[in-house]
Amino acid sequence: MPSHNLAKIKIDDLEIIGYSVAAEETVIALPQLDVCFDVGKAPDQVISINNVLLSHGHIDHCSGIAYYLSHRNFNGQKPGTVLAPGNMIRPIQQILDAWGQLDGTQVPANLVGVKVGDEYQIKPNLFVRTFPTKHSRGSLGYTVIEKRKKLKSEYTELTGPQIVELKKQGVTIDYPVEIPIVTYFGDTQYAEFSQLDYVANSKILITECTFYEDEHIERADVGRHMHVKELAKLVRQMNNEHIIITHVTHRTSLAAAKKMLRETLDKRDVDKTIFLMGRHRTQARP
Ligand SMILES: [Zn+2]
Ligand SMILES: [Zn+2]
Repeated sequence: MPSHNLAKIKIDDLEIIGYSVAAEETVIALPQLDVCFDVGKAPDQVISINNVLLSHGHIDHCSGIAYYLSHRNFNGQKPGTVLAPGNMIRPIQQILDAWGQLDGTQVPANLVGVKVGDEYQIKPNLFVRTFPTKHSRGSLGYTVIEKRKKLKSEYTELTGPQIVELKKQGVTIDYPVEIPIVTYFGDTQYAEFSQLDYVANSKILITECTFYEDEHIERADVGRHMHVKELAKLVRQMNNEHIIITHVTHRTSLAAAKKMLRETLDKRDVDKTIFLMGRHRTQARP
């Protein structure tokens, strides 16, 4: 039986599984892309995913890192690749070393420190690009981008053999295109994310929106989280087809959060949003 009951969303053929509640746990995986954004407490369903992309070092986003890596070893899988802001790599290695001492077995890992603007290849046509977020020192967001080659318009009418002939002659018949599939913010305040083309045009945007009530505006500011009023401003500037909302506070019931989101966002944007935990949590906690 899986360790967690994860939320599941399907957008076209793409499956998104995860769990995200502020201060409790955040882990969001797209198994078909072989990526997991943050690792929470390492639910069983994400262990076989080869790439974990950590947005920042808060414990609710990455406390499962040692378990994820060591359980892959236990299962005979290759060491997991963990992308993380450069300043997180040393402390992660120290955690793994400490667990190695306790466990009596070294925890194998492929740790990759990344900085703003870096790209990392995860499949032949699939890359991850990083960008800065406004949350904690070094915090990063990630966009998964498919890179393809497209035939130049002047050659689209040609037959296969004609194209082969042109290629033989050394003619460049295609040009590179980038298709941003999904962007993950991790935790962040509002920032001018729409200035990044690949973020603004990602088919799917996974964004935190922690707070909803007016009296929580200051709390959002102090914790460097997004308030629904900021989210409304942000998504108005974006072209994403689907917006998945994560990291909702315990302090507001999901039903109330949904209502306030509907009242605050433009109609066009409301229709694009879905709460990751939509079918999971309906009760407010004290
Ligand atoms: Zn968080
Ligand atoms: Zn955080």
